[in-house]
Amino acid sequence: MRACVLTATGGLDKLQVIDVPDAPAPQAGEVRVAVHAAALNHLDLFVAEGMPGTAERFPFVVGADGAGIVETVGTGVTAVQPGDRVMINPGISDYTCEFCRAGEHSLCVNYRLLGEHLPGTLAEFVTVPVQNVARAPNLSPALTWAEAAAFSLVTLTAWRMVVTRARVAQGETVLIWGIGGGVSLTAMRIAKLFGAQVIVTSSDDAKLAAAKQLGADVTLNHRTQQVGKEVRALTSRRGVDVVIENVGAATWDDSLRCLRRGGRLVTCGATSGPQVGIDLRRMFWHHWTLMGSTMGNAAEYAEVVRRLGNGELRPIVDRVFPLARAREAYARLEKAQQLGKVVVEVAS
Ligand SMILES: [Zn+2]
Repeated sequence: MRACVLTATGGLDKLQVIDVPDAPAPQAGEVRVAVHAAALNHLDLFVAEGMPGTAERFPFVVGADGAGIVETVGTGVTAVQPGDRVMINPGISDYTCEFCRAGEHSLCVNYRLLGEHLPGTLAEFVTVPVQNVARAPNLSPALTWAEAAAFSLVTLTAWRMVVTRARVAQGETVLIWGIGGGVSLTAMRIAKLFGAQVIVTSSDDAKLAAAKQLGADVTLNHRTQQVGKEVRALTSRRGVDVVIENVGAATWDDSLRCLRRGGRLVTCGATSGPQVGIDLRRMFWHHWTLMGSTMGNAAEYAEVVRRLGNGELRPIVDRVFPLARAREAYARLEKAQQLGKVVVEVAS
């Protein structure tokens, strides 16, 4: 099968589109999906650079997000059948550990991601457990393959952050950094669904204008404005109820500066660096809650798929590249030029 692979780690020049052996035939409880489109996430850049825990087996098929048509099913599979149009949830759990049994699949002790620990979606075929596919809903206008591919990772991640972890409520104020990113943009839309006021940042005025069109209440340019100062002024020095973080080192101090007494901060990433500082006296004095979050569980995935079916969480696609130009898609993400999801079309 044709696939975009890493021939080694060390950056985007290690990406190549080549022929590799087909994804394995599905075992019991698995399905093989003929991929139509795959979407990129910041994770894919980290994998290309090389990160601890990444499968060091080359050539390694990249890509976490994808959508396509079920091609073959293993024994015991009844939830889907060949010919079904599906979206793929890239988080693979063992369904047996204590956290899985408690319904918390993204806390699984053996949690693995497609395109990081397991062969990914930038290939003509991918084989996954049947629990990891969901039928693409019928929408009008019809969901494109690019939209279907762009859905799972960021929507699941943002939903868990905003709804399950931060419990954003009607009338609360939420600060979201870096609105060009898929998780940030989706978190903004979910926070708006729940009736929050949302302040978003970007270094790009065009992205801020687009975010405003998509529902942002206040936009701040974090290159030309001091976010901490602006947010305190906007909230009469009170600060925001919730900060949604995925930038890390570059924004952490300002995130805390923006957080109100009793506020909640949720982080799912560290794109600018993982090491941050905290003055514990400020944390306990202000009764802050600092939370981690990654991906989401099966119930949350079912809920975001249901919301997509309602037309509420339709993905925003930035640009679509053909498989042969996958490296250009990566480059667009690396240069942070996108607003929404960068997609690679695998089959047309
Ligand atoms: Zn588990």
